[in-house]
Amino acid sequence: MGAAEQVLKQYFGYDSFRPGQGELVAAILSGRDALGVMPTGAGKSICYQVPALLLPGLTLVISPLISLMKDQVGALTEAGVPAACIHSALSPAELDETLYLAESGRFKLLYVAPERLTAPSFLELARRVPISMLTVDEAHCISQWGQDFRPSYLGILDFLAVLPARPLVSAFTATATAQVRDDIVRALGLREPLVKVTGFDRPNLYFSVERPSGKPAALARLLAARAGKSGIIYCATRKTVEDVCEMLCAKGIAATRYHAGLDPEERRQNQDDFLYDAKPVMVATNAFGMGIDKSNVSFVIHYNMPKNMESYYQEAGRAGRDGEPADCILLYSGQDVHTARFLIERSHETEDETLSPEERRVLLERDMERLRQMTFYATTTECLRRFILRYFGEDAPLSCGHCGNCDTTFEEVDATVDARKILSCVYRLAERGLHFGKVIVSAVLTGSKSEKIEQFSLDTLSTYGIMADRTAARVRGLTDALLERGLLQSDPERYNALFLTPAGNALMRGRGDFVLKLPREKKPEPKTERRRAVPLDADVDERLFERLRRLRAGLSAKAHVPPYVIFSNATLSDMAARKPITEFELLSVRGVGEAKANRYGEAFLEEIKDYLRDTVD
Ligand code: ADP
Ligand code: ZN
Repeated sequence: MGAAEQVLKQYFGYDSFRPGQGELVAAILSGRDALGVMPTGAGKSICYQVPALLLPGLTLVISPLISLMKDQVGALTEAGVPAACIHSALSPAELDETLYLAESGRFKLLYVAPERLTAPSFLELARRVPISMLTVDEAHCISQWGQDFRPSYLGILDFLAVLPARPLVSAFTATATAQVRDDIVRALGLREPLVKVTGFDRPNLYFSVERPSGKPAALARLLAARAGKSGIIYCATRKTVEDVCEMLCAKGIAATRYHAGLDPEERRQNQDDFLYDAKPVMVATNAFGMGIDKSNVSFVIHYNMPKNMESYYQEAGRAGRDGEPADCILLYSGQDVHTARFLIERSHETEDETLSPEERRVLLERDMERLRQMTFYATTTECLRRFILRYFGEDAPLSCGHCGNCDTTFEEVDATVDARKILSCVYRLAERGLHFGKVIVSAVLTGSKSEKIEQFSLDTLSTYGIMADRTAARVRGLTDALLERGLLQSDPERYNALFLTPAGNALMRGRGDFVLKLPREKKPEPKTERRRAVPLDADVDERLFERLRRLRAGLSAKAHVPPYVIFSNATLSDMAARKPITEFELLSVRGVGEAKANRYGEAFLEEIKDYLRDTVD
């Protein structure tokens, strides 16, 4: 076993590196700069924490959020790694003490916010203490084209320049567009770095997209099938969060809510309720989740489609961090596209005034393009996993066999004639200077007799009633498909009134055809059986697992830390399968390192011994 593996085992309790981790660690230990692009949950921290323990001096970690720093330092301390953080919430006395301890070489890792790099007291420390490595976490913050640009990240290069010797530089991010990657390498001045894009696949996650006619009912059905499990439901707006949470509570589901409009006290309380499983279901906007590492989230449902794949995958990726099978379900409707477009436009209106009109235009276009990609995901009939992996720059086989689309057979339906009828109807309305949304258009086509029809004498149109043999819902569905393919456009400023595009005009005039892929009736079969589950030990003793879980709950309440900080569910399962009774055996359980074995080992070993005694007759 190499030194790195030994550290991995001793401090973190893991037997082997995940793909990508080993290469990054080896590169760093050989003295090479490195950039790791891995999604949330793939294990970026290990890539610099393991080298930090082996390098002679201090590793400085630049991290953008206090909560992230505290979590990391808390977890490291638990694992027996000397680490600390410096942030604006420390008192002057605490700051002095941390600086003093850092100077005397007490820490292997020191987390700081980028703003700190220009503080005189910190610069003084940095010049005196030997720094082996500078690690930039959330490195995409340095890119002006990235999601959350932080100008202070641009100061990192200046900081490196004032150090007596340039340390190794490593950077990590979950955001992976090629442009952002190049920006990071350039702006941090990385020297021939090993760039590793990896781990975007999360084999235990099952992706699916549903297009329910009613979302509340669909959500209730999904939750009923997941009773007692912990999950997050993401909504596009605060209002939707409140409505959905209220509906779920009325149904007796233990749900809580989170969005930026709630007062900080309620936010904190609700977050804790969720973390400690008092309320296993969290309904939230995208304000929720940054820095939250709850490992037993078994589903993430998007009640609305997010603005881009980056957000979607990051949010969905909060499911199944313990490696257990988990579901990521997107409930899609055409309306989501309008909402997302509206949110994007609004965010650009309130943007930083220092941007030139040209820069604004570029950013707006980039966001619209990302929304288009997101909509492709929601409407594609191809393998969803492949779509995701290719989006993030990783190769993938044509079919994964473990997503909603791979599990659905689609059949091709030629809808050219119907499509032409709809397009003609929009065209004839426009001739009269009228523009309506899909509800009225479908009413005209199916020959319905409503007030609006009479009011505008729409029954005198040549297209009135030409689809009387179809249901209005079917016509609306086809209209959505025409919108998605860009044959029609809708104007959100005018109640989503429909307009013909040049491509729509061409199809109406007989050029091209309109073929849809529709899901064939699904055979009702229980999904759980077909899951390519993560290897879970068949020998897990459920009763013992329950006892260990109760023990963990007690310890967690006593230590004021969430249960998964003590041991994850995966670790408890493994423990309930192996039934260790000596400390040595305990150390072979997945996720048990020396520090945790010292701190909690005895309690768990006692519980297991008691259990074995109780079950032997
Ligand atoms: P990221 O920073 O990329 O979001 P983390 O570093 O928080 O991810 O790691 C996610 C989870 O994976 C953590 O629970 C971590 O302990 C676990 N993990 C990381 N590396 C390994 C490994 N080699 N084997 C098993 N589990 C690992
Ligand atoms: Zn698939």
